[in-house]
Amino acid sequence: MLPVVALVGRPNVGKSTLFNVLTRTRDALVHDLPGVTRDRHYGVCRLVEDRHFVVVDTGGLVDDAAGLDAQTARQAELAVEEADVVVLTVDARDGLLPTDRSILDRLRRAGKPTLLVVNKVDGLDEQVALAEFAALGLASVFGVSAAHGRGMGPLLDAIVAAL
Ligand code: GDP
Ligand code: MG
Repeated sequence: MLPVVALVGRPNVGKSTLFNVLTRTRDALVHDLPGVTRDRHYGVCRLVEDRHFVVVDTGGLVDDAAGLDAQTARQAELAVEEADVVVLTVDARDGLLPTDRSILDRLRRAGKPTLLVVNKVDGLDEQVALAEFAALGLASVFGVSAAHGRGMGPLLDAIVAAL
């Protein structure tokens, strides 16, 4: 069985865009509206020779889960349970938000290896954009632009190393 990597984070940070880059498909719904991906969505990343892995796209984990958002949060939790590695995605343009911290708290309880992806660094000073996320205390932090396919090499290396 292939190892499993779950993409989690708030709605609209670019998880589905990242999923599309990793799986080289247009399958995941990318939408300007937050929370378009309501359940889990699977693909296979074959970008690293001999180290293929399953990628799970999830709807956004939100702080105050109610109604549809509760289902989305549940799907994300299931994805984390079945994951070997979790990629927490945050938005460089929004900066570090309280919801990012509470998602990370939940991930820490799950005890899975977790990488931090700071997405949407295009057009920003990457070092400045990354600086505030250091407060999360994660050792593996990657500035990327999923929309432009930038920063994928180091991220892929780290994912494969953590599998
Ligand atoms: P999700 O809700 O986390 O799955 O986010 P999506 O992948 O649906 O993306 C949400 C919005 O952010 C869309 O309008 C994307 O085009 C945009 N987006 C995603 N990645 C990037 C990026 O690297 N840079 C910029 N500027 N926008 C992005
Ligand atoms: Mg999505």
